[in-house]
Amino acid sequence: MTEWKKISGIISDLDGVTYRGDDPIDSAVEAFQSWHSLGLPYAFVTNNSTKSAEEFGEKLNRMGIPATPERIITTSAVSAERLRTLLEPKARVMVIGAPALLRAVEKSGFEIADEKVAAVIAGLDREFNFEKLEKAQIALMGGAHFIGTNPDRMLPKGDGFEPGAGSILKAIETASGVPPVIIGKPQPHLISMALSILGTDPKSTYMLGDQIMTDIVAGHAAGLPTILVRTGVAEEGPFPITPDFDIETLASIPVMMPNDLKET
Ligand SMILES: [Mg+2]
Repeated sequence: MTEWKKISGIISDLDGVTYRGDDPIDSAVEAFQSWHSLGLPYAFVTNNSTKSAEEFGEKLNRMGIPATPERIITTSAVSAERLRTLLEPKARVMVIGAPALLRAVEKSGFEIADEKVAAVIAGLDREFNFEKLEKAQIALMGGAHFIGTNPDRMLPKGDGFEPGAGSILKAIETASGVPPVIIGKPQPHLISMALSILGTDPKSTYMLGDQIMTDIVAGHAAGLPTILVRTGVAEEGPFPITPDFDIETLASIPVMMPNDLKET
């Protein structure tokens, strides 16, 4: 592992880094509190499409992690924005996902429908069923665009896991023969957006995540050094990439003023 260098900003994943389900990760709460008090800028990027930035902000604040919605980039918001580049204003869109995704699509100016739609946008939907699958299949076979919020197979939950949006996207892809355009990690879109909000130097802004195949791959694609923390999902290799740092908890990241560490 290489030596720690100057850290001018941190872009962090949420699930598995700051909390597992509804349980805060204590070492993460302490780390973000100290970064906040030192004035080290950080932003969050999440593939989780079931909450808005405001709701994630409230959840983090409840756990003691200082966070504002402006610095929480969600895949639901960025996916809904992507529809604007593909569709006419007020086009009909089928949403398979949580209310947060539905609200994001409405906020982007589209009409929610499940027939004669110009696009299907799908994320984690805990009420996913055969009827939704069938309607998505018909729409996609009829030529609708297919946007997927994120490809995660599973999410950490308590001591275990639950199926993620990727499981639903695969079902729709299998039924329709149409693969989704993925917006969340491992694509770099969320990270690029977080970086532009922080305005920090990419060479010394670290991508922090618990999964190599999404967080670390996306961070690398966005040109950032990467830190893998082992408080979330345990993955099985082989992996296409090695993180720059591989740590057990965030307590291993040196806490000092950003300028106390050597320039890269
Ligand atoms: Mg995670």
